[in-house]
Amino acid sequence: MTATFDPRNVPLPKGHWINGRYLTGVPLIELLRPSDAFAYAASPVADDEVVDLAVTSAAAALQRSGWTTCRPTERANILKRWASLIETNAQRLGQLESIASTRPIAESVSIDAAVTAEQIRFFAEFADKEGGDVVPTDSDHLGMILSEPYGVVGAITPWNVPLSMAGWKIGPALAAGNAIVLKPSEHTPFSTLFLAELGTEAGIPAGIINIVLGDGLTTGAHLVAHPGIAKISFTGSTVAGGAILRNIAGAQIKPVTLELGGKSPQVVFASADIEVAAHCVARGILLNAGQTCVAGSRVIVAKTAEDAFMAALKREMSKHQPGLTWDSATNYSPIISERQINRIHGIVEAAVAHGAECVLGGKRLDRTGYFFEPTILAGVAADSPALTEEIFGPVVTVQTFSDENEAYALSRHSTYGLAAGVYTQDLSQAMRAVKQIEAGTVWVNRYGRSRDHILPTGGYKASGIGKDLGKEAFRSNRRQKSVLIKI
Ligand code: NAD
Repeated sequence: MTATFDPRNVPLPKGHWINGRYLTGVPLIELLRPSDAFAYAASPVADDEVVDLAVTSAAAALQRSGWTTCRPTERANILKRWASLIETNAQRLGQLESIASTRPIAESVSIDAAVTAEQIRFFAEFADKEGGDVVPTDSDHLGMILSEPYGVVGAITPWNVPLSMAGWKIGPALAAGNAIVLKPSEHTPFSTLFLAELGTEAGIPAGIINIVLGDGLTTGAHLVAHPGIAKISFTGSTVAGGAILRNIAGAQIKPVTLELGGKSPQVVFASADIEVAAHCVARGILLNAGQTCVAGSRVIVAKTAEDAFMAALKREMSKHQPGLTWDSATNYSPIISERQINRIHGIVEAAVAHGAECVLGGKRLDRTGYFFEPTILAGVAADSPALTEEIFGPVVTVQTFSDENEAYALSRHSTYGLAAGVYTQDLSQAMRAVKQIEAGTVWVNRYGRSRDHILPTGGYKASGIGKDLGKEAFRSNRRQKSVLIKI
């Protein structure tokens, strides 16, 4: 049961989390609550000295604590204890999430905190089950592939679902025997800090998880380039992912996992169950008010089904309950900032000025905070930013097609390939679509991630490099050493 709460009564963690305790700093970044635009806190910015302290603390903790060398079951048990603590502290984690971010309390407790605990437990299971291999070689030799942790890995996360993004990074890194230095988004530091605190309470040695606060250009750039960071795992925009690659190329080349942006299509065939499709399409764009990387922002619908589908979609997209993120009745999120809501409005206005029809919504809600109406745009010009750019808001474009090949052509985006949805009751058509669509994930007759953490997530094209979740995330936190022994 999730209750409405008063954000003034929730104490906020203060400072960076380094070596198992808080390190305060000068509060430089003002934080505004998206629900009511109230400036409620300020956060420090870790400079190169603080980043260096976090990285050296992590390296020392690996030496001192035996985190890498202990029995893998011991590591797994500590991580499982951490997962249990996350569950028992779900309310407070959810509150810290909902004060700073756009996640309504009903979702941050029952989905974000709960899923984070599940995922930590999922990765803990790999600690004592995934290892190296013995391989066939000449009979007078023994060939082995050893699988070893990197040491200290660096991670950077976005603001849109901060708690689960932190879990995606910390879970596999620690299960694989690494220590981590993580920088959460400057907009949403608090739930990640408390998550780390719970890790220490669960028995993860001090210094194995370190959280440094700050912006991308200062703290993020120092972290990425630090010579003590052996591997980087980043989730955020494609632009920032590119900056990280350039930074690494100039500083010190190291492995990177990049989970980046998207402009995902949802293809509705004439054979679809139209009510199911409309419900899923609406949820695929309105969850977190479109501020999810996999937001299904481009609807591509069969001409023959257009009228029935549009009527159903308008109905589904009108069922939303905006409100304060700390009110348990809220099911529709605010936008993260004034800057971002202005950007969304600008893109919608430009599309309309160039001939698009605004079928639903199209403007800011008349209330405090940063709320934007669920919006449907039809007849959008092919080169309009509404159709080409990741909007990261509750805005869906609708295009129509006459035959399957036209649908696949429209589904392809020149830059992105993160996810896609397909709606049809024809199994062969579904399989043709799955093969034709260029995306790292394709959902059929549903949209959005499930709790099947075994399914990896990651993009094709400029939507990313490598995967989070699944076995792949654990493996990407280890490096392989080939060994050949002459007998
Ligand atoms: P962002 O790229 O602006 O910031 C993400 C993080 O990177 C923040 O912590 C930021 O401080 C840091 N950062 C920014 N520039 C940096 C730099 N030059 N060097 C190092 N760090 C830097 O993204 P955002 O606005 O926080 O999040 C929204 C974006 O994240 C969207 O594009 C969304 O699609 C993407 N995202 C992707 C996934 C995925 O799994 N593919 C999941 C969630 C969000």
